[in-house]
Amino acid sequence: MTEILKADPDSIARAASLLLEGKLVAFGTETVYGLGALATSNAAVAHIFAAKNRPRFNPLISHFASAKAAFDHVEANELASRLAEAFWPGPLTMILPRKSGSTICDLATAGLPTIAVRVPRGKTALALLQAVGQPVAAPSANPSGRVSPSDAFHVLRNMHGRIDAILDSGPCSVGLESTVIDLSREVPFLLRPGGITLEKLEAICGTIRNPDDYATKLPSSPGMLASHYAPGLPVRLSAESVDEHEALLAFGPTLPGAGLVYNLSERGDLEEAASRLFAGLRFLDGEGQRRGLKTIAAMAVPRQGLGLAIMDRLRRAASPRPMAGGDDDDLESMIG
Ligand code: AMP
Ligand code: MG
Repeated sequence: MTEILKADPDSIARAASLLLEGKLVAFGTETVYGLGALATSNAAVAHIFAAKNRPRFNPLISHFASAKAAFDHVEANELASRLAEAFWPGPLTMILPRKSGSTICDLATAGLPTIAVRVPRGKTALALLQAVGQPVAAPSANPSGRVSPSDAFHVLRNMHGRIDAILDSGPCSVGLESTVIDLSREVPFLLRPGGITLEKLEAICGTIRNPDDYATKLPSSPGMLASHYAPGLPVRLSAESVDEHEALLAFGPTLPGAGLVYNLSERGDLEEAASRLFAGLRFLDGEGQRRGLKTIAAMAVPRQGLGLAIMDRLRRAASPRPMAGGDDDDLESMIG
């Protein structure tokens, strides 16, 4: 059942407590309706990917009630502060280096050393974020491949029964996604055009580059180019056996003979596996290298539901290649 909540103080308090319990709540912002989950919980964020049926784990934007709250989690440089001053609350998302103490979970950042942060405009959204008092990860509240919803009715039509609640604050005023700017490199890059125009941003930032320039125009530093976490040990996919030089990323009953094992889900639950994937890769990579192992052998997971995103992530880990950020599977990013 999906609860439909009107935007009054009691409903906002109800929506906040659902989020704090790890539930999914769609809420209106000035851009589009977001599908919110507690950004500090891998399990809560795994629900987002399951409800959207997303075939890959792309990093999500974390939403905050104030710039101060956002900057508790990221290293804000002087430019970020000026942009926050000019455009927050509003449709601008900034990618910044993660602070070491940040509690935002791996699944919300797709394991990246950066975090996408935004303070949305809109009384209800801000009241909700204030009441939660924690970052809320929220991609658009549509099934993967469908257009972003700009009112509660759109959300209801596509997500009814798949999410815990919708906080209805009426139609979105901008109706376009937020502009995404990457401030984690030497120069600012525009990752996604959106509600704040390039001209307005350039008035504050000077020239903003296009992500195509990541690879060609910058002195390359492999750590910066690989936008998605890739383990140091090579990954072998669809392992059905394991040898003594390998660490095992298991799913379901483990394989005989494995020394170092991390089981994504002993009971074969894909949501549990998704919520443990990044932690598992990191653990096997670190501990495996410490023990002198050569490879991470990854067992196959079923190619359905979240299994598709898990396999996509493992395939990328198995053949790491430089990628610009901002790959999105949602339709709005292709038409907007
Ligand atoms: P959505 O969640 O659908 O609004 O999309 C968020 C956009 O921000 C996507 O294009 C993501 O790929 C991008 N994004 C979020 N976090 C990061 C990050 N840490 N680095 C690069 N891009 C990011
Ligand atoms: Mg989207």
